[in-house]
Amino acid sequence: MNINEILERLGLHAKNKGISTGTEWLFSSGKDCYESYSPVNGKLIGFVEAATKNDYEKVIVKAKETSLYWRKIPAPLRGALIREYGEVLRQYKDDLGALVSYEMGKSLQEGKGEVQEMIDICEFCTGLSRQLHGLTMHSERPEHRMYEQWHPLGVVGIISAFNFPIAVWAWNFTIATICGNATIWKPSEKTPLTALACFNLLSKVLKKNKIPEGLCNLIIGSVENVGIPLVDDRRVDLVSATGSTRMGKIVATRVAARLGKSLLELGGNNALIVSEHANIKLAIPALVFGAVGTCGQRCTSTRRALIHETHFKTVKNALLKAYKSLSIGSPLDEKNNVGPLIDKDAVNTMQQALKKIKQEGGEIIYGGEPLDNEGGCYVKPALVILEKIIPMMKEETFVPILYLMPYSGSVEEAIKLQNDVDQGLSSALFSNNFIETETFLSHSGSDCGIANINIGTSGAEIGGAFGGEKDTGGGRESGSDAWKAYMRRQTNTLNFGDSLPFAQGILFDL
Ligand code: NAD
Repeated sequence: MNINEILERLGLHAKNKGISTGTEWLFSSGKDCYESYSPVNGKLIGFVEAATKNDYEKVIVKAKETSLYWRKIPAPLRGALIREYGEVLRQYKDDLGALVSYEMGKSLQEGKGEVQEMIDICEFCTGLSRQLHGLTMHSERPEHRMYEQWHPLGVVGIISAFNFPIAVWAWNFTIATICGNATIWKPSEKTPLTALACFNLLSKVLKKNKIPEGLCNLIIGSVENVGIPLVDDRRVDLVSATGSTRMGKIVATRVAARLGKSLLELGGNNALIVSEHANIKLAIPALVFGAVGTCGQRCTSTRRALIHETHFKTVKNALLKAYKSLSIGSPLDEKNNVGPLIDKDAVNTMQQALKKIKQEGGEIIYGGEPLDNEGGCYVKPALVILEKIIPMMKEETFVPILYLMPYSGSVEEAIKLQNDVDQGLSSALFSNNFIETETFLSHSGSDCGIANINIGTSGAEIGGAFGGEKDTGGGRESGSDAWKAYMRRQTNTLNFGDSLPFAQGILFDL
């Protein structure tokens, strides 16, 4: 694979502008640049100009202006635009997938999978653009009619994390656009080039359809110059932020201070329960993929394995065998199972976390050490046995560390352990026992936004609403009726009679 040819086909250069209003690329008014290094081999991929506060101001003004135009375009026509973008993504799936893999470090399969997810959400949105339904209600007053409508919000700000550098933006941007909004995207500073590539492809579609500047905007910049101004800006009608719980708490507080709307997709601490009635053959690959896939850098990665004591030894031995056979190296080589962490800081975070885990009483039975492969940020995924809950187990450490913990007694015991953390994103139970599976999915079962039976915690389809509870932020994105967060609801009551009855039977005679 020739990365330079891929960069060229995606319209990327050694030095790139980092601000787009959809159809135009703008120079930054500052002098700072981001350098994007590949975690695969430590090589510099390219420079991107960093935006200033003034640049942000230019972008928000354009976005607000264009949102007034776009809200009048019929939703099915907005959907047709998104369908065309999906077609362009199809043509560039291999190139864009390879760049995701090279800049972020996930496997080529997962990089292409991320682009496929974008294509899928474009298709979903094409249909959804004809289904932004409101309800009708029966009025209590004679000759009156009540119904509700959904109107665009205006401008949606999208803040995204490094680990899904483009799919999370696509979930937000496609739905926000068909709902009649303009968008401003602030991607992670760690993965700016994949964002630029998405906009190079998008601008072809926007130009062809003569869409005015400012409908879809991209701005690469720091938290100080772009993140905070966007969060604090009353002209931004919804802030959709994906990232750590630490970031979410800041964003939620600042948006709430101006009584704005936020949609939060934050950290997880996902458990997989292996019950005494589990099919172990299914549970082992689910655990391994969940814990080491994307090198443990998915919000849905499996971090805790809660294993019934009858199976503990078998599962531990099977995991040890699987971990020893993992091939770690360049994610661009499809023979490898595990790629790098995002950067050297993440490698250090893992080392510090393991030290703390040991101090708190955890037993590291495999892995954890950094590997000096090809100048990249590689580590050996770690397995840790815990006999009791330790403080580190309650934190999301965004690296491949899997805690193994035995439980005894009923599935309720395991559910209690699973729910005993601050986060509430994804959860899974492996069991062929109907009473156990129904208990897990009942009101007193898993407290997570995602609860699976006999499949792992990691990975989700675009058709369902994605998100979680508690410190995960409570937001829902992607499928089902998640689109409602990107619109405002209006209740309408119409009188077609010749009298004026008041609600609740109130009499008011003049
Ligand atoms: P991060 O919180 O460091 O950064 C995420 C984004 O927020 C970046 O664009 C960053 O620049 C921006 N940001 C940070 N502080 C900000 C502030 N004060 N104001 C405005 N913007 C700010 O997260 P990360 O390291 O990029 O990603 C990993 C985290 O994201 C993990 O916790 C993971 O679980 C979470 N995540 C959650 C989901 C989900 O859907 N729940 C999906 C992907 C990642």
